[in-house]
Amino acid sequence: MKSVIDMKIVLAAIAILLNLISVLPSVGEGTQFSNGDIHAEARKTHWLTISGNIRHNKSCRWYHNSKGRPCRKDEGRACKKCGG
Ligand SMILES: [Zn+2]
Repeated sequence: MKSVIDMKIVLAAIAILLNLISVLPSVGEGTQFSNGDIHAEARKTHWLTISGNIRHNKSCRWYHNSKGRPCRKDEGRACKKCGG
């Protein structure tokens, strides 16, 4: 009888975890839109490589081709090869 109760607790815990997982991404999206981030994203014309904080422009081989994120033209340090 005890194992049946244990199984119910486990199932309840799984249900709670699934709820958390399904809620979290939608919260993230909502935050992004409420910040008016669409316009901010549009201004991010450059690419910032995380390691070294180096900024690349569209013509650079590292643009969208390194571990990084979109950034504005005044973020980070300019790449020596492409000028940032
Ligand atoms: Zn570059």
